[in-house]
Amino acid sequence: MALTSVSELQTLIREHIARAPRLPETEHLPVAQSIGRVLAADMVSALNIPATDISAMDGYALPAGAAAGSRWRVVGESAAGKPFFSSLPEDGCIRIMTGAVVPAGCACVVLQEHTETDGDAILLTQEVATGANIRYGGEEVAAGDTVLSAGRILRPADVMLLAALGIGQVPVYRKIQVAVLSTGDELHEPGTPVTDCGQVYDSNRHTLMARLATMPVEILDLGQAADDLEGVLHTLDEAARLADVVITSGGVSVGEYDYMREAVDRLGAIHHYKVAIKPGKPFVFGQMLRTWYFGLPGNPVSGYVGFDLFLKAALWQLCGAQEIPQPLRMQANLTQAVKKSPGRMDIQRAVLTPTADGTWEAAPAGEQDSHRVWGVSRANGYIVLPAESGNLPAGSTVTVQPFTEAFL
Ligand code: AMP
Ligand code: MG
Repeated sequence: MALTSVSELQTLIREHIARAPRLPETEHLPVAQSIGRVLAADMVSALNIPATDISAMDGYALPAGAAAGSRWRVVGESAAGKPFFSSLPEDGCIRIMTGAVVPAGCACVVLQEHTETDGDAILLTQEVATGANIRYGGEEVAAGDTVLSAGRILRPADVMLLAALGIGQVPVYRKIQVAVLSTGDELHEPGTPVTDCGQVYDSNRHTLMARLATMPVEILDLGQAADDLEGVLHTLDEAARLADVVITSGGVSVGEYDYMREAVDRLGAIHHYKVAIKPGKPFVFGQMLRTWYFGLPGNPVSGYVGFDLFLKAALWQLCGAQEIPQPLRMQANLTQAVKKSPGRMDIQRAVLTPTADGTWEAAPAGEQDSHRVWGVSRANGYIVLPAESGNLPAGSTVTVQPFTEAFL
């Protein structure tokens, strides 16, 4: 049987989660704290933006468009927050500032730079058209417009929009609970000295927690579990009661001490096991009661790639996001040949460099084995080679996926 392809597994996960719709509860946050959270209700504007007709420039408001050389008496002033309320004589104009209300009876604003002062009057040095330099009330947002829909992952510009609409508190979904567990008898906690050479520092759990910290999740750190079925069963059972999602690393291969699949199978169900990707062929997706289970392989780079390709989207979906952010992909030219045998999608760690002519170059970041953590750190993106691709010569055009955090 052919291995599940990357896109098949992405679809399978998405559909499983969609079949069990369970949105988090909601809470209200001050608008400035809502970035990166998922909007829990449609936001309908209660007002017009701009609220009324306002000036786009510093200058003079005139009753109508006027010719160069015409002369206007300055009879009042309208500043931002301090409108002019009196009536305008026929030959009069109003000194007006950017953001100020255009007084009743005025139909355009001539720029200050297009006038000369002449006592208490101005002379136009350029013609001005009716309607010039006025921002009309409601021209961008009208009261009743739905400006953002529930499920939106809020961005800085959304804060600008919401605050401009006078919204101070924003309804968002609560953070989901994500438990993180490392498995392996060899694991040792960073920050404490190892006592024998068979020990390995647990990098997966810390990497996962660091990456989860940028998402709307509460992290439950379950530490490390030994390669022991009873112990793993106990920990997973507990985790499934506490968390919406359990993510583990290690113990999903076919080794003597790889107990994770058996444990999840006993406590719930395995929906999926192997996927046609390199690195990271074993990727377990399952469920324990209402808790979703993701079992990443132990090799750090495999888990890193699995998080990007499968977990991120699934977590956003569980957080209530409607438009799941898609990875940025573009084309680049290989600076050197790459080796690949057809069959599995290959996600190579790479250094992407812009060239003078506006294209991009991609160079593999060293050897591509799945334990090479320095290589991921040196990389600023992936080279994404489709399953069917074979060896590629230098100069080939390939798809790359930049690490967005490397391109601030
Ligand atoms: P496993 O998937 O359990 O067979 O582990 C595969 C490889 O990944 C082994 O070399 C493990 O020592 C290593 N490994 C497993 N878990 C971790 C972890 N949490 N941090 C770093 N390396 C790990
Ligand atoms: Mg192991």
